[in-house]
Amino acid sequence: MTSMKFDLHVHTNISPCSQLPLEDIIVQAKERGLSGVCITDHDTMDIRHFLQEGMQDNGLCVIFGMEYATSEGDFLLFGPYEQLQTGLAAPELLRHVEQTGGVAVAAHPFRSNRPTREYLVDHGLCSIVEGINGRNHQHENDSVGTWRERYGVKQVGGSDAHTLGELGLVTTRFPHPIRNRAELIQALKNGSYAPERN
Ligand SMILES: [Zn+2]
Ligand SMILES: [Zn+2]
Repeated sequence: MTSMKFDLHVHTNISPCSQLPLEDIIVQAKERGLSGVCITDHDTMDIRHFLQEGMQDNGLCVIFGMEYATSEGDFLLFGPYEQLQTGLAAPELLRHVEQTGGVAVAAHPFRSNRPTREYLVDHGLCSIVEGINGRNHQHENDSVGTWRERYGVKQVGGSDAHTLGELGLVTTRFPHPIRNRAELIQALKNGSYAPERN
């Protein structure tokens, strides 16, 4: 099997700010050559009420996560967080994710609006960041380089799509197959991967 191209950061219209229907995501992601997408609505995994997670009929892998907002940055979460309460402080959230076997990715860490606080990375609470976010300005993505050099953070890419046009513009390339949430978590923890612009 060839490598996998995943868009790790997609908002359906369950997110108040997104126009993107789930059905369009599944059809268009496949047409654009993606292997999979992660649904990361704001502070909710309600997507589970509308779709069966995993491999879809058209061969696309859909994995459920969420984008969790804190005052010290937004985090893409992958793990058993269907019932997770909102409003946790970032250190508390990141320790919870660590203890429950999940993964947290700092979303758009250098976005001028509510960036990820550096001490979270410095203290080892977060080691994976979005190296490329499709909605960031170029300079905001470029700034991640300083953390790569200073802390050796691992980098993923995600489109942060809120509209169909944005879907799949930025993805993460994984070397091995990913068919479900557990395999994604394992790959994010262990594997080698890289963000890419399409
Ligand atoms: Zn965000
Ligand atoms: Zn987002």
